[in-house]
Amino acid sequence: MKVLIVEDSTLVTRILKRIISQQTIDMEVVLCTTMAQAQVQLELAPDSFFVALVDLNLPDAPNGEVVDLMLGRGLPTVVLTGSFDEQRRESLLQQGVVDYVVKESRYSYEFAVQLLARLYTNQQVKILLAEDSAAYRKLLRQQLKRYNYQVLEATDAEKALVQLREQPDIRILITDYHMPGMNGVELVQVIRREMDKNDLVIIALSSADSGALSAQFIKNGANDFLRKPFNYEELHCRVMQNLDTINLLNQVRRAAYEDVLTGLHNRRYLFEEAPTLLQRAQDSGRAVCLAMMDLDHFKQVNDNWGHDGGDRVLASIAELLSTHLKRFMVTRIGGEEFCLLLEGIDLDRAEQLLEHLRVLVEQSPVLFDGAEIPVTMSIGITEFHSESLSSLMSRADDLLYAAKEAGRNQVVSG
Ligand code: GH3
Ligand code: MG
Ligand code: MG
Ligand code: MG
Repeated sequence: MKVLIVEDSTLVTRILKRIISQQTIDMEVVLCTTMAQAQVQLELAPDSFFVALVDLNLPDAPNGEVVDLMLGRGLPTVVLTGSFDEQRRESLLQQGVVDYVVKESRYSYEFAVQLLARLYTNQQVKILLAEDSAAYRKLLRQQLKRYNYQVLEATDAEKALVQLREQPDIRILITDYHMPGMNGVELVQVIRREMDKNDLVIIALSSADSGALSAQFIKNGANDFLRKPFNYEELHCRVMQNLDTINLLNQVRRAAYEDVLTGLHNRRYLFEEAPTLLQRAQDSGRAVCLAMMDLDHFKQVNDNWGHDGGDRVLASIAELLSTHLKRFMVTRIGGEEFCLLLEGIDLDRAEQLLEHLRVLVEQSPVLFDGAEIPVTMSIGITEFHSESLSSLMSRADDLLYAAKEAGRNQVVSG
């Protein structure tokens, strides 16, 4: 993403550049110190910039003239200003700048740069508005579009539910209370039976005179609320903070469920998610099989090739498993042990599938340090019949043990 910065202070540009270099998003910066230079840049490559960050006080444009230049070219513009002035702020926002940042602390520069990054990532963020008033919908849409969010609209709760079910990638719902049919609180109740707070953020709109309503929204599962009439900056801050929170939570959740060496899900994930999967299968009468797999003589792999060689084997077997068993839940539950949950297939099919996988592993030695490490695995597999996860696992473990006893490199089912 290409950013045009127009700023004459070298101190400020140095700080901005440093902060930009620390961002995870790649930002290419073109720096101009005067409005004339900026004009040249825009003429050289009119459509190549994604966003502009401009100083209001430039040597050849002391009164924010550069804003007109940028907006005239349709370029989303964030303003840097030395002084805060309520009237100025109003008129800039009226003109259509995305936001303004007062140069007062290191934090404000960070905010400015993060805002640039957000304008980029917000393009992927879908926000649904459930609001029956066309005027409020328009206001919300305009304000959210300013920050590049994708905005969807529903005129009542039922329509909002349909959209949420059809588009599970909607991240935020902003809902009104009074709507024809189901009201906002009822809508939140229905949604929370299906989606939790980390998957969909709900921001409720309530009126200024009803604190009880805001509380009722929160008690029924809304993440946050906003009282009408609201200032658009308030709206933006709420949306941004809630997005930050779920992103952070999801990062933590991913990290907690991931096995670092192989990138597979780990044991914790298995114990948290498998019971739901089993319950779902039981309710729908679908077959589920569970397999325990263990690499043979893995200690010897470590002895012969070192721990790094062993790690390479684990990573490459994990890759093979996730490629060939994409549809299924594959977890690394310990050292060289993996657990598979095969939903929707019976024991005979599962046995065929894993026999195929066993042969594939045997025929795919792992490349390491210019050599080939031979790998085989033993597998125990069984079918779910309404027992607990742990008794299902222990039956598969017994079968795995039988496979080891019978000479390894084989599948035993039962
Ligand atoms: P068997 O055929 O009976 O399964 O024999 P084995 O040698 O594979 O079984 P055992 O369970 O005795 O040994 C497993 C070895 O796996 C011991 C341990 O050092 C090694 N191991 C466990 N975790 C890791 C790991 O993350 N990386 C590497 N390189 N080795 C690991
Ligand atoms: Mg309404
Ligand atoms: Mg082993
Ligand atoms: Mg083992």
